[in-house]
Amino acid sequence: MQSFTFDQPATRVIFGVGAFDRLADEVRRLGLKRALVLSTPEQREDAEEAARRLGDLAAGIFPHAVMHVPIETAREARDTARRLDADCCVAIGGGSTIGLGKAIALESGLAIVAVPTTYAGSEMTPIYGLTEDGIKKTGRDRKVLPKTVIYDPALTLTLPPKIAGPSGMNAIAHCVEGLYAMDGNPIISMFAAEGIRALARSLPRVVETPGDLDARADALYGAWLAGTVLGAVSIGIHHKLCHTLGGTFNLPHAEVHTVILPHAVKFNSRAAPEAMRIAAEALGAESAAWGLFDLAVRLGAPVALKDIGMPADGLERAAELSTQNPYANPRPVEYEGVLELLRNAYAGTRPEA
Ligand code: NAD
Repeated sequence: MQSFTFDQPATRVIFGVGAFDRLADEVRRLGLKRALVLSTPEQREDAEEAARRLGDLAAGIFPHAVMHVPIETAREARDTARRLDADCCVAIGGGSTIGLGKAIALESGLAIVAVPTTYAGSEMTPIYGLTEDGIKKTGRDRKVLPKTVIYDPALTLTLPPKIAGPSGMNAIAHCVEGLYAMDGNPIISMFAAEGIRALARSLPRVVETPGDLDARADALYGAWLAGTVLGAVSIGIHHKLCHTLGGTFNLPHAEVHTVILPHAVKFNSRAAPEAMRIAAEALGAESAAWGLFDLAVRLGAPVALKDIGMPADGLERAAELSTQNPYANPRPVEYEGVLELLRNAYAGTRPEA
């Protein structure tokens, strides 16, 4: 048995169809009185519905969240929270909206109640990000962890298959890297394996029959576990590559994860055999890399960097950037190996077992 430290902050989680009905009770239970509701412009109606349910507890809505939390948006949201005398934020949406809530909490200490509607998992992590002058800076602070997370699968019914598939693969990536994290532990590995199992069995159903509420619930359950894994242990080459590609080449977040994951797993397969065995078993596949690639194909998600906006002449630069300050990883992260990984991901070839 390995030695480990388990230091998991507790977040209250309310899970189930209809859990959204408990929003006002949860805000009240936390002793809060004036909630600023956050969303993206696309989910403005969700924010309005949340405000309606909050009634007197709603201070206003701020439906301007966008990807990667630009500092200007964060400042505007913080000013709005101050002007409206808000004592908490209700963030309803995906990682972009919850990220905006975190940016407010980081500065003001306001409590967050998160109502996630994608599988990104940000609601369970102390990780925040802010983009200034085109550069995204991330950090960890427990102050940004939501006090309560309300998971209502009914809210994910509107998540189109085109977003749901990659978002689910993004969640699986958190689990896979948790299995071989240098600071991993057996409890988190249990969460990771169960997260992969739940997502692998539910995502094809979500994409094939988008109205299947059981499948939506199973996927959201997997996403919760995945977010917990991401919040608890460190990340390796896969996330490093995705951050580099997303930040430098402005590629779409969940899609980059989907494309890179099978190749990052292949890269690490010999260095982390036990993690790969667990992942393959949870995927019901002969090898983890194959299982992940085949799942992405089945979901109709992208499998090639060339199809999501990556310029062919950017591969060397991406390899250089991601090997400069690599995250801890089971296999040493050196330029040649990473370039080969990126070339395969660019072409979208099925990795070797
Ligand atoms: P997103 O939040 O950007 O949402 C994508 C789009 O889908 C938006 O237009 C949104 O309004 C819409 N949408 C969300 N839920 C919907 C629903 N149920 N129905 C219809 N439309 C819906 O995407 P995301 O993948 O959830 O989040 C990505 C961002 O989150 C990235 O910036 C990433 O860096 C960050 N992230 C952070 C963490 C962390 O721990 N800090 C973890 C994962 C992701």
